[in-house]
Amino acid sequence: MSDTIKTKKEIPYKIYLEEKDLPTAWYNLRADMKNKPAPLLDAKTKKPLSYDDLRPVFCDELIRQELDDTTPYIPIPQEIRDFYKMYRPAPLVRAYCLEQKLGTPAKIYYKFEGNNTSGSHKLNSAIAQAYYAKMQGLDGVTTETGAGQWGTALSMACAYFGLDCRVYMVKVSYEQKPFRREVMRTYGAQVTPSPSETTAVGRKILEAFPGTGGSLGCAISEAVEAAGTLGNYRYVLGSVMNQVMLHQSIIGLETKAAMDQYGIKPDIIIGCAGGGSNLGGLIAPFMGEKLRGEADYQFIAVEPASCPSFTRGKYVYDYCDTGMICPLAKMYTLGSGFIPAATHAGGLRYHGMNMTLSQLYDDGLMEARTVKQTEVFEAAEYFARIEGILPAPESSHAIRVALDEAIKCRETGEEKTILFGLTGTGYFDMMSYEKFNNGVMTDYVPTEEDLARGFEGLPTV
Ligand SMILES: *Cc1c(COP(=O)(O)O)cnc(C)c1O
Repeated sequence: MSDTIKTKKEIPYKIYLEEKDLPTAWYNLRADMKNKPAPLLDAKTKKPLSYDDLRPVFCDELIRQELDDTTPYIPIPQEIRDFYKMYRPAPLVRAYCLEQKLGTPAKIYYKFEGNNTSGSHKLNSAIAQAYYAKMQGLDGVTTETGAGQWGTALSMACAYFGLDCRVYMVKVSYEQKPFRREVMRTYGAQVTPSPSETTAVGRKILEAFPGTGGSLGCAISEAVEAAGTLGNYRYVLGSVMNQVMLHQSIIGLETKAAMDQYGIKPDIIIGCAGGGSNLGGLIAPFMGEKLRGEADYQFIAVEPASCPSFTRGKYVYDYCDTGMICPLAKMYTLGSGFIPAATHAGGLRYHGMNMTLSQLYDDGLMEARTVKQTEVFEAAEYFARIEGILPAPESSHAIRVALDEAIKCRETGEEKTILFGLTGTGYFDMMSYEKFNNGVMTDYVPTEEDLARGFEGLPTV
């Protein structure tokens, strides 16, 4: 008993870094990788894309970050650090109550990224991308959003820097989440449900799939096309790309700094994986140590059984979008034509996975697991009732596996230290919670035929 009290005194329920200890540079994990992620290719010529090739679509500085495989630390501009200070550091929480309820000897920590109006980690990259767009003198940016978290984050960031923001929102989310849409409009963004009649690619998709609820891949195609036609605009995106994972390294850097202050070393690090940005950001400094041979950790990516890019996908070049107008990326993918079932974790419905994480997974440096949505919501409610926070369905994928691992420790008696990323809050997901509470939520797992259909559209490289 006295032991427990002593431990509690030593490690607070919430660990916050002091302002002077906040990271001043992002960490670029690629610099420490022997096997670098494969380069982006031009969809037509199949040749690697240069800085100049990418300039019509993306912001200049973001292209530099995207293509930089060698610089380990990239300084965070002061303007971005000032914005970060308004909502960071994010707390690292020791889940004492959860451990006690589970009766596990495991120590559970989570990094909570939902403490800002957008409600997720996406703001970490949104503010960086809006800053570089502003510095370049652009009038505005276009983007896609799935569940709405990225669109919300980007509209906040654009409002801060006085940029115009055009958001193509996946139609199912647009209809299911009117409040998300209204938050974006409150921050000044223009929101269009996708696929829409406003772009050529949107009209083409609507013709081929009338009545479709859309997908991230469709919305990306529309946003890219719109950026091209609007003029002094560029396209920005909230996940998948290496630049986004770079900005999200702030999550892992803060976590590692906080843990180091108390001499805590995680054994297992868990994150949900949509396009891979929060997971990549959380694990970055830890994976860096593993790559340099300084320490070892078990990394687990958690994805929905309905959209299993890592566990059932192929590691090949694929289009990043349904309209096939973006560059080709080598990644674990289900095929850009794969349109996942309308599950309740909109942020995890992307067909592919970040290129850096794909390479690490292919090299056997991390694991991946799938979970079904009803078991995810069970975990979400269990967590909410004990730790108080109402988690986003996406984040709850990580909670599910963290609980599973903690329960395993209860059975084996192992005192493992488990760290997971709690990426956001679920206030805008109450329709999904309602379905779960009414017992009408179903689990969808694609058949081999469903997957084969997605693979059919893979390009030959
Ligand atoms: C977008 C989102 C995710 C998934 O995106 P990643 O790029 O894989 O991190 C996870 N959780 C929340 C709350 C999100 O908004």
